[in-house]
Amino acid sequence: MARKLDLRSGRPVWFAYRAPSVPTERLTRDVKTDVLIVGMGISGAMMAETLTGAGHSVICIDRRGPLLGSTSATTALVQFELDQPLTKLSPMVGKTSAGQAWRRSRLSVSNLSGRIAELGIDCSLTPSSSLYLAGNVLDPAALRDEAGARRQVGIAATYLTRKALTDSFGIDRAGAILSHGNLALDPRKLTAGLLLKALERKARFYAPVQATAIEDSRDQVVVATSGGPTITARHLVLATGYELTDIIPKTAHSIVSTWAIATMPQPKNIWPGAAFMWEASDPYLYIRATEDGRVICGGEDEEFTDEARRDTLIADKTKRLAKKLHSLLPQLDVTPEFTWTGSFGTTSTGMPYIGALPRHPRIHAVMGYGGNGITFSQIASEIVGSAIGSVEDVDAKLFSFSRS
Ligand SMILES: Cc1cc2nc3c(=O)[nH]c(=O)nc-3n(C[C@H](O)[C@H](O)[C@H](O)COP(=O)(O)OP(=O)(O)OC[C@H]3O[C@@H](n4cnc5c(N)ncnc54)[C@H](O)[C@@H]3O)c2cc1C
Repeated sequence: MARKLDLRSGRPVWFAYRAPSVPTERLTRDVKTDVLIVGMGISGAMMAETLTGAGHSVICIDRRGPLLGSTSATTALVQFELDQPLTKLSPMVGKTSAGQAWRRSRLSVSNLSGRIAELGIDCSLTPSSSLYLAGNVLDPAALRDEAGARRQVGIAATYLTRKALTDSFGIDRAGAILSHGNLALDPRKLTAGLLLKALERKARFYAPVQATAIEDSRDQVVVATSGGPTITARHLVLATGYELTDIIPKTAHSIVSTWAIATMPQPKNIWPGAAFMWEASDPYLYIRATEDGRVICGGEDEEFTDEARRDTLIADKTKRLAKKLHSLLPQLDVTPEFTWTGSFGTTSTGMPYIGALPRHPRIHAVMGYGGNGITFSQIASEIVGSAIGSVEDVDAKLFSFSRS
């Protein structure tokens, strides 16, 4: 039913911190539920928490186990700022849709922050400002336009000149956009926290269990699993990350490779406010700090999927990332203590596909693509959660599989 990818290699920084363990059971007999969620990464966890909160009975399965997919590899800059600048997205999808996507993204990151506080999940959540630095995709003049376009749709953005950037942050670049309201967090702790909340509300977790075939009818969906038992549900949510199931339309989706490093803790060397930094460049670079003062730096994306080739490049890419990090923040000790690589899904516009599959109203897909994956997982939990409760989200069409 799905291609199995080698989603990540190396040792992500999150293994330096203990995430609570999430108990699972063996699936030994046929079972029934309101909603079956396939995938127990951040997307599946957000769905499970939302749906159990709304009173639905939920079963989650994962062929690896909870938290063992791409979610452990993310650098977890949870940004409302989409990878695709507003001024670039507008000509692709139209000005109205682009503004709507940016606003929804802004709203969802704020919703996520409230949700974590409400549920009391300890995931090192830190509100973060961000600096979007001038580069080869947007030069200073284009960045000024981008800041103006954001303000036009109601999203605060301040353009900083070279001098303002140096004075306030000690960063020597030609210009930047300063924004507020992004989130730094520990993705494994958040995912485990959400799953445990769903478990408290009687969700059932089975792993390792692979969904091998799907059959849907007017009233239900029946999923066959690797061990033999079937799971019957009123709705199915596919939260399988970058391992797409065959039933999902082959949209403009492609997989690329990406790399990341993390240093040892060095709280004394962290720049003002530990603002996220990311470059308007291709290939791009992004930087954040952890609560205890490690510096995470990622990027260097390459447009290929070959996992063996991806892994052999770890040493080379690590050196490049450390060199770029040093040139931006010379006060840092850039020696990597953690290095890792992963596969990464993108679409041509950078916008995710979320919602019921065409001609399969009971099968919903949650595809948290690209560098905004976690933000998109939150949007997906809102849109799909509403749809299963028979409420149509105003932005559902914008992200749907049937959008034009
Ligand atoms: C290096 C790197 C850096 C990143 N940085 C960021 C960032 O800074 N900010 C951000 O927002 N996003 C970032 N991302 C993206 C983010 O990691 C993903 O969007 C997110 O982890 C996807 O979560 P998921 O739950 O959808 O997928 P996963 O965590 O991969 O979970 C999917 C699960 O589905 C299971 N599964 C698949 N098929 C089946 C099947 N047939 N049966 C049963 N189980 C199945 C898998 O075993 C897996 O555990 C980054 C990604 C990488 C690799």
